[in-house]
Amino acid sequence: MGEYKEYFKRWEEKIGAFIEIDEKAIENSDFKGGGKAAGEKFREKRKKETVFGLPFAVKDNIAVKGRSISCGSKLLENVKSPYTATVVKKLEDQGARVIGKTNLDEFGMGSSTDNSALKKTNNPWDVGRVAGGSSGGSAAAVAAGLVPFALGTDTGGSIRQPAAFCGVVGLKPTYGAVSRFGLVAYASSLETAGVLADSIERCRAVFSIMRGKDGNDQTSVEAPAKAPGLEERSGAPRIIGVLPAESVAKAIAAVAGDGADSEQALSIAAQAATLEEEVRRGFETAKRNLADLGHTLVDVEIPSLKYGVPAYYAIAAAEASANLARFDGIRYGKRPDWAENPDDLIDKAREAGFGSEVKLRILLGAFVLRSGFQDRYYLRAQRIRAGIRRNFETLLGGADYANGASATCDAILLPVFPTRAFDRGPSTLSPFAQKAADLYTCCANLAGLPALSFPASVENGLPVGVQLLGRAFAEAVLLDIAEGYEKAHPFPHPAGYESFWD
Ligand code: GLN
Repeated sequence: MGEYKEYFKRWEEKIGAFIEIDEKAIENSDFKGGGKAAGEKFREKRKKETVFGLPFAVKDNIAVKGRSISCGSKLLENVKSPYTATVVKKLEDQGARVIGKTNLDEFGMGSSTDNSALKKTNNPWDVGRVAGGSSGGSAAAVAAGLVPFALGTDTGGSIRQPAAFCGVVGLKPTYGAVSRFGLVAYASSLETAGVLADSIERCRAVFSIMRGKDGNDQTSVEAPAKAPGLEERSGAPRIIGVLPAESVAKAIAAVAGDGADSEQALSIAAQAATLEEEVRRGFETAKRNLADLGHTLVDVEIPSLKYGVPAYYAIAAAEASANLARFDGIRYGKRPDWAENPDDLIDKAREAGFGSEVKLRILLGAFVLRSGFQDRYYLRAQRIRAGIRRNFETLLGGADYANGASATCDAILLPVFPTRAFDRGPSTLSPFAQKAADLYTCCANLAGLPALSFPASVENGLPVGVQLLGRAFAEAVLLDIAEGYEKAHPFPHPAGYESFWD
């Protein structure tokens, strides 16, 4: 006893991944097992029940009965959930155990986890840098080896971007493939629960348990019968579409040149979408390695991609302004000590409870939904969304597996984020640049497609991730390609990492 516990404490002091820890679960754990009977038993059972006996972490916007559900917000600090999310329940039923709730940007709004009102989470590769966000706590916990996998949510990149920043695997499933019952909603039409894991095999095992239709979530569905099976591991050569690096940044800059509304904002956006030298190198390495593995790489264009960020933020803010209206200080969370009347009570609760990023998005959402403005912003964003989906479907095939689709490629390779994990110093990314940089991730959410981020290489001491986007319900194809990559180029770990599970 003690080895895992000490390891956990030592790392957690440095990275601050957790908002709440189940001390008892850690106390009773000795996951390495050594020659102990318990360890042997776990290993034996795990051959069939793949997550049996494993601890996992859950982002603190996913409900676990009796546990914190703060969403990284002062408004919900110390609130305990009265029930458990379906995705968590399914894993617990297979013998996995929640060991803690992880830090996040408040209500999932951000790209660094620094928007959490409760604490800072540091990157295990360099504690002076952010872990990414919004599922930064989950990513950091997996990267440091505190858990073999963790749950996160992805509305515009919140699983894939922190996974890339911390050098772990991050899967955002097809919209509807997993239940959202028990997730605190940020933007319901964009978000899915997903997995952060230490290997592709683990990610596949966890996803295969999580997915499926749930009576408590009417948007959840079973994968079509003809969709590729998760157990399929062919390592077969595939056709991978590649978006030429910089082509998106150039496209955005071209729009600015057309005398668009706000030239200055567009030129900052184009700059933010430009890949950092190390990320460009990592992306080129990924291309080379995939080609060496026998895959065929073809250049593709996604014409609507350049409009992704404005469309994403219009839709996400609109849905957030509606979803967050339930937080009024009456039914949930912190209530002010004194108020003149109910309206005053709600004002005071929100004023004190919500952070500035959350307030900004609620205001933006209310603005784009204002009567008379809907056409100009919200409906336009929905049209762009449909265009992005069509662009991807032309390349990958649609969700309808019954009619054999003609597709150009099996997956599309994209960068995850234009930078590696950034620091908090003067050269940090501004909040505007962080939003502009969501470009590479948010389009999978707009189109509802699965996307898998995995470490491609380490550049100047920090991991660089790339992502594969696939046809709806074709997670298996993405996992298969990435598993081949992992076999040839084992995923890296930060200094001091130890594995407590096999
Ligand atoms: N960076 C995105 C945002 O701030 C990610 C959100 C998410 O996926 N939850 O909206």
